[in-house]
Amino acid sequence: MACIVQKFGGTSVATLDRILHVASLVEQTRRAGHNIAVVVSAMAGVTNRLVDYVHSMGSGEGDAEYDSVVSSGESVTSGLLAIALNKRGIPSRSYRAWQLPIITDDHFGQAIIKQVNVDSLIADMNNGITPVISGFQGITENQRITTLGRGGSDLSAVAIASALKASICEIYSDVDGVYTVDPNIYSNAKRLETINYEDMLEMAAQGAKVLQEGAVLYGMRHNTAIRVASSFVDGHGTVISADAQDREYTGMAIGYNVAQLKIAYRGNSNQIAQLLNQNFIKSTLIRDISNEITIIIDKQRLPLITDLLERQEYVQSVRQELVREHLSRITIVCSDPVEEKCANIAQFLQPNVRVFECIPANRQVNLVVPSDSLQEIVGLLHKWCGFEQ
Ligand code: ADP
Ligand code: ASP
Ligand code: MG
Repeated sequence: MACIVQKFGGTSVATLDRILHVASLVEQTRRAGHNIAVVVSAMAGVTNRLVDYVHSMGSGEGDAEYDSVVSSGESVTSGLLAIALNKRGIPSRSYRAWQLPIITDDHFGQAIIKQVNVDSLIADMNNGITPVISGFQGITENQRITTLGRGGSDLSAVAIASALKASICEIYSDVDGVYTVDPNIYSNAKRLETINYEDMLEMAAQGAKVLQEGAVLYGMRHNTAIRVASSFVDGHGTVISADAQDREYTGMAIGYNVAQLKIAYRGNSNQIAQLLNQNFIKSTLIRDISNEITIIIDKQRLPLITDLLERQEYVQSVRQELVREHLSRITIVCSDPVEEKCANIAQFLQPNVRVFECIPANRQVNLVVPSDSLQEIVGLLHKWCGFEQ
């Protein structure tokens, strides 16, 4: 009897009707004879509302009470789904993460998983009970509630699947797989049948939010197979595994409302990468020459990042290089030789559209483009990369 973990994201549990539908999907898998542990997100929009409440009270990420508040949406959905399953004759019970527990460090808002205890889940499944676990949540050794970063229910599911040695971790969302580019941005995007962990990691890290970056990393480290599929339509979805083929071009990920910073430093640029990592700041490195690095960041975080950098003694200056309204980043995930690919792409785009940057990086070509021509450029690049042949 295979053990499967199924995770249902916010849109999949957005309404009571959707939760009833999820219960029918879980029932199908259960009746097919599999053991299942289910992980759920909060109903769509709920976590954002909770984050707004916390901000309105003058607090935010980093405060233990932020986690206490924003983790609560998941507690509601796990209980509701357990009710729906019991009503269908599928014995079930809900768990909050602390009841397992999933132990994390105390980086509130972005906690790192230290240990996952699945003894009670195994006992339940052996007794014919389908456990439903609230995703996104953890607990510190000091009994404080934590959260695993936005989109963190994916990580909960993968971590539980790894601990259970499940045959697969199925992530159900509103899209029927991982696409060459966000299908909500570009309707000719193509679904990938398979993708390897490294490529998925690049896609997720650069903005393909269909899977949380931390979840991919965890799956890669524990060699846990992941399948992304839709809870709205049937289909094979996309399987993420170690043996999926390498591709010349894998796909594109997009960063919205970005800004570009130039940082002059003394010593080693790794210090800057480490500083940003420690503060959970996502950035895309696009140049590192002559003691000056150029990074692309989320424009909203510009004041915080500038302030943080300027306080470091090894930082000589922070210059806002491209800070204007409505800039987007397109990251093309591809294999070597990236320099050659980048040069060809720049040459191809130049006569047609305005591009502020086109820079090669490790397994990537990064472009900074005006947001109002984002879709046009994505379309041109999508064809250029051969995704539409
Ligand atoms: P959930 O609430 O189920 O966790 P998310 O909103 O976190 O779902 O992720 C699904 C969304 O990811 C899709 O609606 C889609 O807009 C977006 N997305 C971004 N990049 C991609 C991609 N390459 N493939 C599929 N979906 C993507
Ligand atoms: N509800 C959380 C969020 O919106 C976690 C998740 O959906 O995965 O970020
Ligand atoms: Mg998600």
